[in-house]
Amino acid sequence: MEKKMKIVVIGAAPTALGFAYRLNELKKENAEEVKNVELIMLEQESFAGGLSCTDIDEKGFLWDMGGHVTFSQNFPYYDKAIQEAVEEWNSLQRNCLVDMNCMFGEKGIHLVPYPAQFAVPLFPEKDKQNCLAELKERYENKSDVRPVTFEDWILQNFGPTIHDAFFKPYTRKVWTVETNKMNPIWVGSRVAKLPQDKLESLCAMSKEELVKADFGWGPNAYFTFPKYGGTGAVWKQMAEKLPQNWFKYNSKVVKVNYQSKSINFVENNNGTEEMIDYDILVNTAPIDKLINETKLCSPLNIEHNKVFIVGVGLELPMTKFCETFTWLYFPDPAVPFYRITFLSRYGETTPDNTKYWSVMAECARPADDPITEEEIRDQAVEGLILKSIFTREQIVSIYSTTLDYGYPIPTVERDAEIARAHTVLEPLNIYSRGRFGGWKYEASNQDHCFIQGKELADRLFLDIPEKLYKTGLPEHRG
Ligand SMILES: Cc1cc2nc3c(=O)[nH]c(=O)nc-3n(C[C@H](O)[C@H](O)[C@H](O)COP(=O)(O)OP(=O)(O)OC[C@H]3O[C@@H](n4cnc5c(N)ncnc54)[C@H](O)[C@@H]3O)c2cc1C
Repeated sequence: MEKKMKIVVIGAAPTALGFAYRLNELKKENAEEVKNVELIMLEQESFAGGLSCTDIDEKGFLWDMGGHVTFSQNFPYYDKAIQEAVEEWNSLQRNCLVDMNCMFGEKGIHLVPYPAQFAVPLFPEKDKQNCLAELKERYENKSDVRPVTFEDWILQNFGPTIHDAFFKPYTRKVWTVETNKMNPIWVGSRVAKLPQDKLESLCAMSKEELVKADFGWGPNAYFTFPKYGGTGAVWKQMAEKLPQNWFKYNSKVVKVNYQSKSINFVENNNGTEEMIDYDILVNTAPIDKLINETKLCSPLNIEHNKVFIVGVGLELPMTKFCETFTWLYFPDPAVPFYRITFLSRYGETTPDNTKYWSVMAECARPADDPITEEEIRDQAVEGLILKSIFTREQIVSIYSTTLDYGYPIPTVERDAEIARAHTVLEPLNIYSRGRFGGWKYEASNQDHCFIQGKELADRLFLDIPEKLYKTGLPEHRG
């Protein structure tokens, strides 16, 4: 009898499910390459989905773990898989603006178009003139120096005025670090440049036209959302359609014994520790923890932040000026959230959408910030009232949760450090992929993570090189 190949995956979220979905497909096709493959996914929670799950509060409001919108960056394989998982989808057009109150010396809310750099013609006169002069200078003297930091990239493309007025405070809010700590590798599809012809067309628009504009920039200008069950429905339902004996829930991995190729896990229900052997280990949990636990190399010099989610369930009517928005951005340091999402506009996420609406705030803090969830929750609610999003009397429910790992920060050192980890992991048949398993922000959305899992399966079973995730190893076939 041919030997079995046992694959253990840590986690059961988009990356793991991309891997499992592909294996299931190959099994159904009776592919010779997978006939001896056994899979087990150890998931510490009692459900699949990870950061893409949806929680329900005591009053029946649904909360995603942050403003999750489902859009695909040209991955038809992912589109097909999620369509199979969820039958009914709502399609939405993004409508988001940026609160630039500080620039106008105001305390409340002062919305300008998104991305903020496209709103230059609406800036206060002095800032506008400075931005225009700085942009003109950059159009005339194009630099071919490769920017090392995100700050370099901003200064090279826009200039100091917009850096200080928007990028600096907003980066502090969402990334919780300074712009000079980050690399510029990730900006491609995330931060819009402002070419000269674009600026000219913006300057030609009337203020009335401009103030309402969303420029359709970026891959999420149109997006979808499950009609029922929030984002989590996608992953729960996908998991339900896969072989159930592949999933072992309530099982927290506590030790990886790479010499004996086994891992120890604790069952949440009874606290007993068990051991399981593997031939190949796929890690989708944070890679820094894997390295700290195995001590396969010295600790990685990589950074992440944490994110607090604060959801507020509200009685209708919805505040008039919010009715058409999908989400809003807040660089203002006086409020804790960097973004708020009008979640009830996306799907059936309240106990009754004819009576209620809901707003979700995302607040990022450095991983070691001592602030408590209660403190952030109170500050967020006060901030939402300060920004006139709702009145205190409308509140029906307040939900909060803490994501200890929110964003993998693309620091300048990141790629070299992650490559250092893969250098010791991959020769031992340990593959770390996904949002925190792979730690590459630019490839860490749901679609990316699902495809990372799928491509890893193709690499291991069919010898097809990975395309999306770059380990940085010279011998890596991706
Ligand atoms: C604030 C925020 C906003 C986001 N917005 C979007 C968006 O708009 N669109 C989008 O596509 N994506 C978005 N994302 C990204 C999305 O959440 C991720 O792409 C996706 O969840 C990553 O999947 P993953 O499998 O790599 O990892 P995770 O979701 O992190 O899952 C890892 C899994 O491993 C399990 N695990 C960890 N440690 C152990 C252990 N020791 N033992 C057993 N199990 C373990 C966890 O419980 C979890 O289920 C957002 C994320 C955040 C935080």
